[in-house]
Amino acid sequence: MRYPLTRNPIFWTIQGEAHLRGFQMCFVRLAGCSVGCGHCDTDYAKNEFATDEEIAARADEVTPTNARDRWVWITGGEPTDHDLMPLIRALRAKRFAIALASSGHRRVIPPVDWLSISPHDPAKWMQTYGNEVKLVPGLNGFSIEDFRSAHPDDQTDFMYRYVQPLSIAKQEDPASLRACLDFVRANPNWALSRQDHHYWNVA
Ligand code: SF4
Repeated sequence: MRYPLTRNPIFWTIQGEAHLRGFQMCFVRLAGCSVGCGHCDTDYAKNEFATDEEIAARADEVTPTNARDRWVWITGGEPTDHDLMPLIRALRAKRFAIALASSGHRRVIPPVDWLSISPHDPAKWMQTYGNEVKLVPGLNGFSIEDFRSAHPDDQTDFMYRYVQPLSIAKQEDPASLRACLDFVRANPNWALSRQDHHYWNVA
């Protein structure tokens, strides 16, 4: 199967957010996004097409040969806009563990090793279980409570729950940061994340 890819779509880097923060892994960035956030500044424009096997081969090339943990982090745009099964099979054939990042606007039961959900609109948030969830106060004008009232904690099943300050042009929004700090202090089952890759200056 052929997939649309963004510019510089396959690269080895350091995960900067949430539970796998600090782990080195190969990012695969699929183009396109059906979510339609009002102030999206993510460059998910299509730059090229590649087959599942070509993507897996390129991921293998950029992954150091002595890497014990061979993670691929599939992201977008919104990767669940595409049929991911051929890509997952091709990556598995190259012995990769697979993480998938999604806005959760579509129910998915993908056979991945790590499912990371970051909802962008409470009304469209469908995927209510996974390994981690990240809520970003201020994103698209929504508050943490907007998201939590859509899906209260006891109606979701995430191993790890994070709030993360909104970051614009590598600057954390002060109101969003304050909301995160107040929230985690009042909710001990939630943790604070941030976009550390911005501060480390890695992609
Ligand atoms: S989900 Fe992400 S990439 Fe898609 S429109 Fe929203 S901010 Fe942009």
